[in-house]
Amino acid sequence: MALIVQKFGGSSVADPAGMKRVAHKIAEAHRGGNQVVVVVSAMGDTTDELIDLTQEITKNPPKREMDILLTAGERISMSLLAMAVNEEGVPAKAFTGQQAGLITDTEYGNASIINVDPARIIETLDAGFVAIIAGFQGVNKRNDVTTLGRGGSDTTAVAFAAALDADMCEIYTDVDGVFSADPRIVHAASQMKTITYEETLELAAHGVKVLHLRAVEYARKFNVPLHVRSSFSTKEGTKIVEGTDMNGEYEGPAVVGVAHDLNQGKISVVGVPNTPGVAAKIFSCVAKADGNIDMIVQNTPLTRTGISNISFTVPRQDVSIVVKALEANKEELGFEKIAVENEIGILSVVGAGMRTYTGVSAKLFNTLGGLGINVDMISTSEIRISVVLDPKDITRAAIAVHSAFGLDSEEEAIVYGGTGR
Ligand code: ASP
Ligand code: MG
Repeated sequence: MALIVQKFGGSSVADPAGMKRVAHKIAEAHRGGNQVVVVVSAMGDTTDELIDLTQEITKNPPKREMDILLTAGERISMSLLAMAVNEEGVPAKAFTGQQAGLITDTEYGNASIINVDPARIIETLDAGFVAIIAGFQGVNKRNDVTTLGRGGSDTTAVAFAAALDADMCEIYTDVDGVFSADPRIVHAASQMKTITYEETLELAAHGVKVLHLRAVEYARKFNVPLHVRSSFSTKEGTKIVEGTDMNGEYEGPAVVGVAHDLNQGKISVVGVPNTPGVAAKIFSCVAKADGNIDMIVQNTPLTRTGISNISFTVPRQDVSIVVKALEANKEELGFEKIAVENEIGILSVVGAGMRTYTGVSAKLFNTLGGLGINVDMISTSEIRISVVLDPKDITRAAIAVHSAFGLDSEEEAIVYGGTGR
């Protein structure tokens, strides 16, 4: 008998019809002789709607109360889904994160998992039930509910798959699997049969919303077999794998995917004294403000000795808080002024094959140059190249780069619904 964890995202359970469709899939897996644990997200856009609701009451909702509110979304879906599975003639029980044994730290809104005690879930499975767990939530040592950050239900699923030593963790979403680009903008995006954990991590960190970043990190650490597939079709989906052959060699193309991110902003600290320790001070200040930096560029104008400019990107929602923190320390940091660009686009190409293939950057920059697109900043990892562009150029850049790396598919990708969250 296999133990399977199945996670269903919000768009898969958006309405009663969706609930029933998902309940049927779950019942089929159970009837197939498997032990089934289900993790479910809030219905449709419930989480966004709850957030919007708070904005009508306060611009500064206390984080603890915010978490109590947001966990309500998953409580609705887990209880309704358990009822729907029971209607299928398969016994099912619903559990909140707390009841299921998911313990987190105390960082409301973005809590980290510190322990999973699946005793109650094991008991439920052994009694022949399907266990349905509310995603995205846990409880801290003060007995307060916490949430794992937007999109956190994936992480709940992976955490239970690891704790239960599951044979497979299936992530059901509104697209057929992991794509070589966002099918919403690159219609020729092709669905991958397999992709490595590290490539998935880079894609997730650079704007691909198919999997929660922490979930991939967790899956890699605990070797959880992941399978991303659509709850709207019976297609094979994408398996996340180690990516090396029997000799430990990577086999695959240079580039497997093109990611884009329109949710970052750029901050430039202009006129900084070019002396040792200054960058450390600036970035300590950013870190204290919890700014999550992606790219950094420093340049020294030839006309001004002893002075440089430092630019970096952070998620747009962090921009104002980071700028405030820097301004508050202006004297100590010694800069002249701060310039902000809220509207930027970041395009990334990712592939573990970059370690062995040459000419990847030449092809990328030739393609962008050929379109007359200007590159503002560049950053790289071993298996990724990212560029900052004018956000207006992102779509045509993504389409052209995708094609240049030979990733275009003949078939048009299907998007079943939702926003990719
Ligand atoms: N409902 C939460 C969100 O929308 C968690 C999730 O969907 O994974 O972020
Ligand atoms: Mg959601």
